[in-house]
Amino acid sequence: MDHRRTKLPFVTKEQLDRICAEYPTPFHLYDERGIRENARRLLKAFSWNKGFKEFFAVKATPTPAILKILHEEGCGVDCSSIIELKMSEQCGFSGSEIMFSSNDTQAREFAYCTKLGGTINFDDYTHIAYYEKNVGPLPETVCCRYNPGGDFLVTNDIMDTPGDAKYGMTYDQLCDAFHYMQTKGVKRFGIHAFLASNVLADEYYPMLARVMFDLAVRLKRDTGIAVSFVNLSGGIGVPYKPKDRPCNIDVIGEGVRRAYAETLVPEGMDNVAIYTELGRFMLAPYGVLVAHAQHEKHIYKEYIGLDACCADLMRPAMYGAYHHITVAGKEDAPLDHLYDVTGSLCENNDKFAVDRALPKIDIGDIVVIHDTGAHGHAMGYNYNGKLRSAEILLCEDGSTRMIRRAETEEDYFATTKDFF
Ligand SMILES: *Cc1c(COP(=O)(O)O)cnc(C)c1O
Repeated sequence: MDHRRTKLPFVTKEQLDRICAEYPTPFHLYDERGIRENARRLLKAFSWNKGFKEFFAVKATPTPAILKILHEEGCGVDCSSIIELKMSEQCGFSGSEIMFSSNDTQAREFAYCTKLGGTINFDDYTHIAYYEKNVGPLPETVCCRYNPGGDFLVTNDIMDTPGDAKYGMTYDQLCDAFHYMQTKGVKRFGIHAFLASNVLADEYYPMLARVMFDLAVRLKRDTGIAVSFVNLSGGIGVPYKPKDRPCNIDVIGEGVRRAYAETLVPEGMDNVAIYTELGRFMLAPYGVLVAHAQHEKHIYKEYIGLDACCADLMRPAMYGAYHHITVAGKEDAPLDHLYDVTGSLCENNDKFAVDRALPKIDIGDIVVIHDTGAHGHAMGYNYNGKLRSAEILLCEDGSTRMIRRAETEEDYFATTKDFF
């Protein structure tokens, strides 16, 4: 396979030269057009479902300008903390546009979600009593997170092991929760499960949907309560590697529709809304980390040192995750050099790539690390006194806009300035 032609960034060298002249590297660059077109594809693929809504997983890219773009495209938000709730509020999200799928949650976080009119997704049975004791009467609409235990199989492959995951409730707990909450005046119920992450198989979401729709039918039989919505959560994958085949969102939407028609509709449950909480699928391919090559080092291996480090993008260091790398203007050059591409942290796992075949890299080259739009800048941190990078939006008209400035020394020292 020809890697050079199969995975190109969304910006050209000419654009990058111009952008880098304006903003110092490193920075994450986002593609507004790609984000909007992808969001429209998702909504179209699920347009057969009247109540469909995507609640973007804020944790993937907690950047106000990005949230506002998704809001304009008709998305809500899925928050995991009070800070994400407050950011969403400031971006104009309110009421039923907000899901709160958190775990090990604090009372003030529950309370803030309720104040905004958002929908709480209870992670555990005991959180219901905790809410009543520490926050107040239950809201009219609630969601409960389900954990089926065991392994989750997609076409005979183990996709994940929910039995080992800290999230969600057992079936019996769900029944108890529904019964109890009904006596406490809850009117609208929903169910949620997140059973696997970054799955490229188009079968995944329809299979998850079938698990959840069967669950909805069983809950109706056992409790008499018909859910109003099923939240399929996140997990749709993106093609990080050149050989990966991207998901076909139309096939996924159609697979979920068929599962719906075969499970819910015969039970008279044909008004159940489908919700999604996608993060990676919505943003990952539409962001890149842009850096310059600043050092080359020849010892037992060949190293290229960037002005970015794993504080800008943690996934390779944390999970050994693959992120494709191209060099601006050398997209068609032969991949005849083997490099470790590193950052400057005093950690030997600070490598964006190990033994990667790349074109010859020269000092000053612009190095583009792909698919950083989700779980990229968001996972940044300050280890080794590294300052978090800026975020730049490549607008639909080709202009650029800074949507988060880089941290400054003053920002870094602010939390200790009174304690020297
Ligand atoms: C992380 C997360 C998501 C988003 O997952 P992706 O893999 O980015 O799609 C959705 N819902 C919940 C509850 C999550 O924790």
